[in-house]
Amino acid sequence: MFTKINDMVSGFVSILKGLAVTGKNMFRKPVTIQYPFEKPAMTARFRGLVDLYPEKCIACSQCVKICPTAALALETTTNPQTKKRAAAVFTYNGELCCFCGLCQEVCPTAAMYMNKCYEVAYYAHDDLTKIDLLKADKYAHLAPPKVKEQKT
Ligand code: SF4
Ligand code: SF4
Repeated sequence: MFTKINDMVSGFVSILKGLAVTGKNMFRKPVTIQYPFEKPAMTARFRGLVDLYPEKCIACSQCVKICPTAALALETTTNPQTKKRAAAVFTYNGELCCFCGLCQEVCPTAAMYMNKCYEVAYYAHDDLTKIDLLKADKYAHLAPPKVKEQKT
């Protein structure tokens, strides 16, 4: 008899504890979002794909030398008027990249950086293995198709 009463009391306390947790969370703001209709903002230190400000690049090759996976390839040229080196061909292989950020750290002119791109699904192999860093719209082909309006 005493055991049964004890079980009933502990069961009731357990239900109250569960309801307290439910009540506490019922009016909280949700921590989840409706992806892909809503997109999260990446943090300042998030490392996406390697990107470049071509006008800042002095073709010093430091990023290429430090890259542990040989994901960067640079061919240089010399401007006949200014006699300065410049990047002629600069490619990035996103498939080899391990997102270590060393290229960004070593770049003396802050020309190289890791962007916030995290949606890197692609259709063709070359879309990710031969990215032309000198092109302004280099990642346009990786942009996901526009999500249709959510039907409610
Ligand atoms: S993030 Fe690392 S692996 Fe990727 S290109 Fe830069 S140095 Fe190479
Ligand atoms: S380290 Fe910076 S400046 Fe030098 S080649 Fe790489 S991107 Fe250009």
